[in-house]
Amino acid sequence: RIVLGIESSCDETAAALVSEDRVILAQAIASQEAEHAPYGGVVPEIAARAHAERLTPLVEKVLADAGKTLADCDAIAATAGPGLIGGVMVGLVTAKALAMASDTPLLAINHLEGHALSPRLADAALEYPYALLLVSGGHCQILRVEGVGKYQRLATTIDDALGEAFDKTAKILGLGYPGGPAVERLALQGDPKAVPLPRPLVGSGEPHFSFAGLKSAVLRAHESGLHKDADIAASFQQAALDCIVDRTRIALRTMDDVTALVVAGGVAANQVIRTGLEQLAGEFALPFTAPPLPLCTDNAAMIAWAGVERLAAGFPADPLDLKARPRWPLDPDATPARGAGV
Ligand code: ATP
Ligand code: MG
Ligand code: FE
Repeated sequence: RIVLGIESSCDETAAALVSEDRVILAQAIASQEAEHAPYGGVVPEIAARAHAERLTPLVEKVLADAGKTLADCDAIAATAGPGLIGGVMVGLVTAKALAMASDTPLLAINHLEGHALSPRLADAALEYPYALLLVSGGHCQILRVEGVGKYQRLATTIDDALGEAFDKTAKILGLGYPGGPAVERLALQGDPKAVPLPRPLVGSGEPHFSFAGLKSAVLRAHESGLHKDADIAASFQQAALDCIVDRTRIALRTMDDVTALVVAGGVAANQVIRTGLEQLAGEFALPFTAPPLPLCTDNAAMIAWAGVERLAAGFPADPLDLKARPRWPLDPDATPARGAGV
């Protein structure tokens, strides 16, 4: 089986062809960093226009690069939410048009499911159920991944996402957008113990997250003029790591049957965070898995792979009148499966 994946929920326009034997036959990503950089963050209207201009050429390119046509595809998988609604609609409408024109099944993919299953694209040995820390630009959650479409959420953030905290720290330090990689680079030159910063919720019995207070403390440390920027970056990154390690440890104590500790999402690209979580997995004698860096941040291979998994699990095609969903939690308790949204 081969699935065409389409991703357009934030500021990367992406297409990829993935086979069920875990081969990425072709992929292409157009990042909009240059367009959004002057504004210090993603501007939804600019994003939607850029997706509309770029997506169709990217789809044509991946098909040509792989030497395939739509007739070779067993499904077209597109992100249908959550995300910036204009961009999601561009990707979903494009996928619907391709599906209709080629009589190929459409699979509407939850972007978070793409992140959640991405580790299995790279690691054939990763079995369900696994403990997942999903850390991205808009989310910070601990999930028990029991199978395709079966997610139990154990923890979430009560304010900011972790990627958001990295991006805000970058903004405070004048590192520009996107912030995560810039903070990680600057932190290499700093002392992670130099700046006293809070660890919100560390020690509390429920494994939830909070990063708003950490961000405010970064702002005060910067405004005090007492610290080098590199020390602030390194100390922030250490505080963030201490928070997620403590919170994930609490959650792991309630998950005694999981096969592995897994991290996914854009912040999973961070080497300090990967190393810290690997140590935590060691405490529980669990294997640790993190996707290769290009599969951490937004990409279409993970969307295509979620489509492969959905086909293999026997999920039916989605109807062509399916609506895009700006909000779409992963755990079924939180939401009706279909229908709401734009
Ligand atoms: P979501 O998946 O929640 O809808 P998103 O798609 O915008 O949000 P991703 O693309 O998964 O998020 O991740 C982007 C986030 O990851 C940004 O906040 C970015 O700063 C962060 N990030 C990327 N690389 C790194 C890194 N090396 N260190 C820390 N953070 C990083
Ligand atoms: Mg991005
Ligand atoms: Fe994402």
